[in-house]
Amino acid sequence: MNSPNASGWKPEMTRAEGSAPATVTGNRALMLEEPLLFEIGQAGVTGVDLPPVDAAAACRLGAMKRAGIIDLPGLSEPETVRHYTRLSRQNYGIDMGLFPLGSCTMKHNPRLNEKVARMAGFADLHPLQPQDTVRGALEVINQLAFWLLELTGMHGVAMTPKAGAHGELCGILCIRAALEARGDAREVVLVPESAHGTNPATAAFAGYRVENIPANSAGRVDLAALKARLGPDVAAVMITNPNTCGLFERDMMAISDAVHAAGAFVYCDGANFNAIVGKVRPGDLGVDAMHINLHKTFSTPHGGGGPGSGPVVLSEALSPFGPLPFTARDRDGVVHLVEEESADEFGHTQAFGRMAAFHGQMGMFTRALAYILSHGADGLKQVAEDAVLNANYVLRSLEDVLDAPFAASGPCMHEALLGDAGFGGGLSTLDLAKSLIDEGYHPMTMYFPLVVHGAMLIEPTETESKAGLDQFIVAMRGLAARAKAGDESMKHAPYHAPRRRLDETLAARKPVLCWEPGRSDL
Ligand SMILES: *Cc1c(COP(=O)(O)O)cnc(C)c1O
Repeated sequence: MNSPNASGWKPEMTRAEGSAPATVTGNRALMLEEPLLFEIGQAGVTGVDLPPVDAAAACRLGAMKRAGIIDLPGLSEPETVRHYTRLSRQNYGIDMGLFPLGSCTMKHNPRLNEKVARMAGFADLHPLQPQDTVRGALEVINQLAFWLLELTGMHGVAMTPKAGAHGELCGILCIRAALEARGDAREVVLVPESAHGTNPATAAFAGYRVENIPANSAGRVDLAALKARLGPDVAAVMITNPNTCGLFERDMMAISDAVHAAGAFVYCDGANFNAIVGKVRPGDLGVDAMHINLHKTFSTPHGGGGPGSGPVVLSEALSPFGPLPFTARDRDGVVHLVEEESADEFGHTQAFGRMAAFHGQMGMFTRALAYILSHGADGLKQVAEDAVLNANYVLRSLEDVLDAPFAASGPCMHEALLGDAGFGGGLSTLDLAKSLIDEGYHPMTMYFPLVVHGAMLIEPTETESKAGLDQFIVAMRGLAARAKAGDESMKHAPYHAPRRRLDETLAARKPVLCWEPGRSDL
């Protein structure tokens, strides 16, 4: 799909869309136009035949009976299946090509994970089954907890949070509980400027006032500024390491020591754990709480709001406050799953509450454990090394054609950060990203982190081969040259996607969330 120019291939040799006549249907070969379900559906058509409702039953419905018709589209089963299948073909996914979204860690999900997750003993469980009948599943949770503690060097882990953001909330609530337990109400959480939006959102949601810590010119936390701000009102510092500029926070030990000396806690956003897994244990860096996005570091498919899982590992100081069910080491180092019924027995009596009704995302647990066990200690280390190698290859292959603000800060970790300084003709990162769609790639993360103008955050992950990266680099270099030359046509890209450029501001400001019959301006 993304053939390299290096081999002499030119787009005109296979495609002549510019001169192609329009089609009657609007379809383009096997790329089909797809109307809305409401446009193709007809009243009265249905995919299932239900028996007629008898008069007595209709009578029993009484006041619950629907007064008018509801405007649901009527389609037969094949029409419905085809509609969604056609839509799915317009989707881009990690199984189709490179998905370079920085921070999101869109890596290949090994099929072995899927096989394990679909085993009936895991896939067909009901959350209300008696515990005696789900011993195997609980053992999986325990084993995964054990490995997460091993890999992070921490004391306990709450497995229940359903995503990174949920894990952040869990960690900050633990910190709040620990502070309250010592009668020390504090009001402020410090967050670096480059942090993911969920960090300040979490702190604010948990009732804290958020203050920014500036970055230094190398893209790392300004240690002196942080130290100067620490005081008796600071509850915690939320640090992302590696940070969202793709850089390792080298002063992490000094940061943790200063935060602890001020009586506060260190929360680490562990979304970028894939860059250091098997290499560094956050527990050794003085971290008190860190979420692990299982769906990033340990594969498992995600995207489009799909399932996630964000276990939170806790230090010995915070573990007593971990929510139930909770998994912690006992004095002998053995990992136990503590439930409400066994909280007294294990002495886990200060839990701040629960994060979820049941035990967490079983499908994500099985996939993550399969990933960890199939890679082993050496394999996980290689995951981190290859992810870092790939990102540096991208950074060094683009730094001469795109602004690379922190290229001089040393090697990057798992993602390369570029900016749009130097683009001509009023072009910006958005235009380059839309043009990348025409080249057959999902765009990179854009305009994040906020500390770089027109940020482009590219995370290739360890999944990509050198040949695949070379193709992507050819595409990026070509687009960078056009952007610098101020190529006007980029303002209207994409040209070849199922939809041309949409008015994203209008879509965000005036979202049309329900179908209005007869409306034609959509
Ligand atoms: C993805 C991400 C989060 C949020 O994680 P979710 O699982 O999407 O809730 C937080 N911080 C960073 C740096 C991230 O990349």
